[in-house]
Amino acid sequence: MVKGVKKDYGDFVYMRMKKHECPDCQGPTFLRKVKRRINSKSKSAKNYDFRVGDTTLSGSVKFIWYEFKCKNCGNQYTEAQMKQYEADKKAAEKAAKKAQKKAEKAEKRANRPEVNINITINK
Ligand SMILES: [Zn+2]
Repeated sequence: MVKGVKKDYGDFVYMRMKKHECPDCQGPTFLRKVKRRINSKSKSAKNYDFRVGDTTLSGSVKFIWYEFKCKNCGNQYTEAQMKQYEADKKAAEKAAKKAQKKAEKAEKRANRPEVNINITINK
């Protein structure tokens, strides 16, 4: 018997207003509702937060949350996994940009025409 229900819809703006791509195949994703019944005395209970406000649910609790599911490959990702993927991707892009800038700078330096200054002093 379900004694309690805990709904966690996550970061609304992040989940619903922004576009997210599949970390695996970069395909489009959609939100999928996930429901799981977890008993507070079971082994897997440690992976779930039974607190709701000031109270803690016990017994059989129904957890409801949303995950991203890929339309292409069907893989599913949690909000935390998607955030991690996007943060890693951003960092990689930033590093790539920096490396490119450095390469461009080096190229510019290499292509700089040599300047010969001849000063003739007429006496
Ligand atoms: Zn995918």
